[in-house]
Amino acid sequence: MEREVMEYDVVVVGGGPSGLSTAIKFAQLNKENGTDYSICLLEKGSEIGAHILSGNVFQPTALDELLPNWKELNAPLNVPVKKDKLLFLLSKLAIPVPAFVMPPMNNHGNYVISLGNLCRWLAEQAENLGVEIFPGFPASKLIFEDDKVVGVQTGDMGISASGELKPGHEPGIEIRAKYTVLGEGCRGHLGKEIIKKYELDDGKDPQHYGIGFKEVWKLKDEHYEPGLVMHTNGWPTPTDTPSGSYFTMAKIMRLMLVMSYLLITRIHILARLMNFKNGKNIRQYVNTSMEQKDYHMVQEHLSRVGFNHCLN
Ligand SMILES: Cc1cc2nc3c(=O)[nH]c(=O)nc-3n(C[C@H](O)[C@H](O)[C@H](O)COP(=O)(O)OP(=O)(O)OC[C@H]3O[C@@H](n4cnc5c(N)ncnc54)[C@H](O)[C@@H]3O)c2cc1C
Repeated sequence: MEREVMEYDVVVVGGGPSGLSTAIKFAQLNKENGTDYSICLLEKGSEIGAHILSGNVFQPTALDELLPNWKELNAPLNVPVKKDKLLFLLSKLAIPVPAFVMPPMNNHGNYVISLGNLCRWLAEQAENLGVEIFPGFPASKLIFEDDKVVGVQTGDMGISASGELKPGHEPGIEIRAKYTVLGEGCRGHLGKEIIKKYELDDGKDPQHYGIGFKEVWKLKDEHYEPGLVMHTNGWPTPTDTPSGSYFTMAKIMRLMLVMSYLLITRIHILARLMNFKNGKNIRQYVNTSMEQKDYHMVQEHLSRVGFNHCLN
């Protein structure tokens, strides 16, 4: 099959925060050094941000380093964290935990944001610096030459489930580059291939995943407390399951329960989510909400587990 070939100096796979930051950094180095290396970024979502699930407590340290003038550039960081609440839940009791017991839970100086919006804004900054961004282009294969990665191939379009070519079939293109950077997020299939091929996980701890549920609610004004971030631990998850929940408040509230055991069936997790939403501290917000704005049951989505991801 004939494939179109495009050549770049750098190809970045994935338009999440890491891929976009990488592309911006390369483009900044181009400017600083008076070079003109070509950089492109492939995103499999129909637009940048389309696959970014996270409503987010965002620590701006890395952004301060990458784009120190982000305020002037109107970065969508509009809701500073004003209050942290940390609760250890029992079935009938919520015990407040002081912030000094868990310093990573102190979100002073951080922002409640939509990570999708931040990615859209990062993409604009990248394009302004000359990065070519191709949304709707999944990188489906790595291209190897002499055992080295020399680029990626994008997915073929118009192939039936049984492998036959359908009318309108378009072969994927080869994007060849001196540097191929993978920013696919966790469990990206190209990353898995690279890890296996070059044995990058040899002698390393296995990766650790969990299942996350997320709901987004629009609040009535009397419950609207912008900048509130509440984390809970304990009930309703079993004592041997490291898990917890957090919700963050911008104009909409995001409520999330994270559980780490893949062995727990979806039914159990759903039941626990329902219990959780009926708990005293959460019920007051959920039951009086105006509408459930959006609903993602991220049942198959594997998200990083543990509270430390909130500040990564
Ligand atoms: C529900 C949820 C809540 C979270 N809350 C927080 C929080 O409060 N604070 C915090 O700091 N972190 C939080 N996180 C974690 C944070 O979202 C991740 O650490 C961060 O998004 C990782 O960035 P990334 O660019 O590496 O990957 P991702 O954000 O996963 O982006 C990867 C991108 O690559 C694209 N892609 C993947 N494969 C391909 C391919 N083959 N070809 C082309 N494109 C591809 C995807 O479509 C996606 O756009 C949360 C995560 C989730 C899921």
